[in-house]
Amino acid sequence: MSDSSVRVRFAPSPTGWLHIGGVRTTLFNYLFAKKMGGKFLLRIEDTDTERSEDKYTQDILSSLEWLGMKPEEPLLYQSKRFDVYRKIADDMVSRGLAYRCYCTEAEVEASREQLIKEGKKAMYARTCRDRTAPPSDKGPNPPYAIRAKFPLTGTTSFQDMIRGEISFPNPDLDDFVMIRTSGVPTYNFVVVIDDVEMKISHVIRGDDHINNTPKQMYLYDALNHQRPLFAHLPMILGQDKKKLSKRNGETSTNAYRAAGYLPEALLNFLVRLGWSHGDQELFTMQEMIDLFDLKSVQVSGAVFNTEKLMWIAGEHMKKADPVRLIQIMETDFASSFSGISLPRLKEPLAITLIQHTQQKVKLVKELADQLHPLLEKGVMPVDASTLKWNKDPETKQKIKNAIEGLIDFARKKLDGKKTLGEAGIAHADVDQILRGLCEQHGIKLGDFTGPMRLFITGQATSAVGLFDLLPILHWEDIDQRLQACLKA
Ligand code: GLU
Repeated sequence: MSDSSVRVRFAPSPTGWLHIGGVRTTLFNYLFAKKMGGKFLLRIEDTDTERSEDKYTQDILSSLEWLGMKPEEPLLYQSKRFDVYRKIADDMVSRGLAYRCYCTEAEVEASREQLIKEGKKAMYARTCRDRTAPPSDKGPNPPYAIRAKFPLTGTTSFQDMIRGEISFPNPDLDDFVMIRTSGVPTYNFVVVIDDVEMKISHVIRGDDHINNTPKQMYLYDALNHQRPLFAHLPMILGQDKKKLSKRNGETSTNAYRAAGYLPEALLNFLVRLGWSHGDQELFTMQEMIDLFDLKSVQVSGAVFNTEKLMWIAGEHMKKADPVRLIQIMETDFASSFSGISLPRLKEPLAITLIQHTQQKVKLVKELADQLHPLLEKGVMPVDASTLKWNKDPETKQKIKNAIEGLIDFARKKLDGKKTLGEAGIAHADVDQILRGLCEQHGIKLGDFTGPMRLFITGQATSAVGLFDLLPILHWEDIDQRLQACLKA
């Protein structure tokens, strides 16, 4: 299916780091656009000039780029369009569709409280709705806001693509502010002006905006523009079933990148927050595009399950191209390496190590932390006091003798080759050789491999087992580390 009239957008306010919920909204917009052969656009809703910051806009852009969901047309910045909004608002005033409100904040508050006392709904008391001139007691040219002249009777309804028909009785809705006394336009006003400007066909956003939709409908109708279709996505909840926030989960997208999640894993996880395709859990981007359907989006909130995210991360890690993983480590995790281990990511050894390690880790950061000591040259700093052999000097000596046996064997076997693997030694051979040495020296395999693992990998536990590492690491590096082990 290809429908080039499908145009959707993500419209974040750059007042904080890109929220992971915003990424889910972007993803659903993006998938819908791709599936329909339409376009995905981005609008920066920076009308709040005090809270909006360029660093947050940059974060939105770099995060979306990282996730591979780039907008397909130049961005629209609301802060550059204040004149446009003002002109439309003034025009609505002159046509009787909006009005100037001269009430101060304190007066608006007092009239709301009065309505509450009378047992009525808290809203603006519409004091200025029918004024034809400014109030005489406020001096010449009193400042004013512009409010929508919202209908007093009837209902406003729309067909939500996820929830079906949603109706609001008009008397319950405020004459909402379109332009504040400060001259700054409000979200509910400019969102419509800009969705029209950008020819948005479908508004796909969080369900926290449902109550705003009738106000926006009024503007579409008053300005004689065709209403777009609306789809309100279910809220993302923390594991405590409360709205996902900093209190019950990590919300900033850049934190997931810094933790080492692959972008495809994060997107796969997010697509399942509110959407399903049978019980399929793992999706590639192309599968998501092919299968996505707004009709299959659920109404109820979707719980952010960190364990599931980890599982999905591991599954995508297993399938990732090692060359791409190297690029990610070089750009995002260079600080996990040293001046020696970082350039060694270019060596064929790195690919082999990644192929083994990616089966065992979930995050690129873990991969980098596993790889660094294996690519480092020379002896790794280790804490040998943790080793079991300290308890028993006799066994310790036997283990050292067995290590010497292994070194002897390798030196003979290598015959100029760099690795035991090149000399024809595979996992099964290492298994046999180490077991043989254990038997010969009367020690247990676990006692033998513990010190070797610690000194060779620099870690007490390593993602890739010793039997796999011994054939692939350069023997020269192993040798140096085993010498340090013998001195320990
Ligand atoms: N700036 C609004 C938000 O961040 C956009 C809502 C919309 O998509 O209409 O929630």
